[in-house]
Amino acid sequence: MNTDTTLAGSADVVRAVPLTFHPRPGTVHARAVSGRFNTWRWAMVWLTQLVFYGGVWLPWRDGDAVRPALWMDIPHERLYLFDQVLWPQDALLFAFVLIVAALALFFVTALAGRLFCGFACPQTVYTMMFSWIEARIEGKPAARRALDAAPWGPRKIAIKGVKHALWWVLAAWTAITFVGYFTPIRDLLPRLTTWDVGMWEGFWLVFYASFTCVQAGFAREAVCQHMCPYSRFQGVMTDAHTRQVGYDRLRGEPRASARSVGAGDCVDCTICVQVCPTGIDIRDGVQYACINCGLCVDACDSVMDRVGRARGLIRFASEHQLAGRDLRRPRIRAAVYAALIALCAGTALWLLANRPALRVDVLRDRSVLAREAADGRIENAYLLKVANLTRHEVDYVARVDGVPGAALVGSGQLRVAANSVASLRLTVAAPDDGTLRGAQPLDVVVAPRGRPDESARERSRFLFP
Ligand code: SF4
Ligand code: SF4
Repeated sequence: MNTDTTLAGSADVVRAVPLTFHPRPGTVHARAVSGRFNTWRWAMVWLTQLVFYGGVWLPWRDGDAVRPALWMDIPHERLYLFDQVLWPQDALLFAFVLIVAALALFFVTALAGRLFCGFACPQTVYTMMFSWIEARIEGKPAARRALDAAPWGPRKIAIKGVKHALWWVLAAWTAITFVGYFTPIRDLLPRLTTWDVGMWEGFWLVFYASFTCVQAGFAREAVCQHMCPYSRFQGVMTDAHTRQVGYDRLRGEPRASARSVGAGDCVDCTICVQVCPTGIDIRDGVQYACINCGLCVDACDSVMDRVGRARGLIRFASEHQLAGRDLRRPRIRAAVYAALIALCAGTALWLLANRPALRVDVLRDRSVLAREAADGRIENAYLLKVANLTRHEVDYVARVDGVPGAALVGSGQLRVAANSVASLRLTVAAPDDGTLRGAQPLDVVVAPRGRPDESARERSRFLFP
């Protein structure tokens, strides 16, 4: 509950008012509008959902096998991105990709405010899809408001029931698609018919479907205003040069519903408010609740067309432009973001291009420190792990380096399948002439057979008694 304090005589009266998600109480039933920004929004819905719902079905031939082209294989710690296979050791590359994505968001925000929120954010995209279903079932905003206000009866139960059933179908398919990026969907779907799913698959299917339904069906743009941290800190990324949706007060005021001397261009039709999915009036100034969707721009442009005035009373414009100042200064903030994006993207590409095809790990056998063999040499035991990051099976040969006279007992050879890890127990023997004592540095060197210049080296220790 919010509290509203008013002064009554000499006593303070604290009046409780209901907490509302939106500036206007109740669910926002925005009026439909057509125009270029609405077209762009729906184009983004189609584009993002084609990628999301379609990407999970893409097959990829890997040698003789066919696997999903996009697949996060958690049990085997692999991320498949078309022909690239990323390992946990590629976390740095992944971190740079995330940094580039975050910087790109900062860059767009510096140029055009919450453009991502209004056009590409999953919250916006799914809210549009759920609202579209609602409008098909319940009708226009006035009919939806009337239905909300009507007492429960067979008609209301039937209409709301159909809407919620369709919402759950969409949410369930979204959840199946999401889980399909972790468990190949061609394997998951048949198992779903008998609910033959693992604990984590079952949890994510139920959670993600419920989450989608609650977020996109009920909370809608309230998420953008009250839950999303981006709306709170976007202010530090924008400045007076940032182009955001704004009302041209100089041109629009004073408002007048009829043409009169001295009146501005705003005819006070309030259509810009009626189409706003967050329920705000952009004529009150730039507000954090505005998701920059541009629908009020479409609405006002159509009104201006009808009354024969120039478009752009509400438009994407900077604070300077709306104040009548045409400042063309270099955008230091945007330039810094662009430079950082180029730097981090370049680093990520370099890391990708220089990923090693072979990774080696050596673990000392801690149960046996050092032992003396029958021939008098000192032996140490190790576990060698070799990761083959190529798309082919490879035969590797190991050798040791660093301790005079040290050599492997055995062949030191192992075969590793494509994109796999294999282990080999190693025994290293070194002569004990009494000059070396304690722990000595020892390198284990592994190379594909016949290609010693492609070797990888890992340092360990050799213990003399
Ligand atoms: S004020 Fe305009 S741009 Fe902002 S959320 Fe409302 S309709 Fe979208
Ligand atoms: S749509 Fe345009 S003309 Fe109508 S109230 Fe909004 S700003 Fe004024």
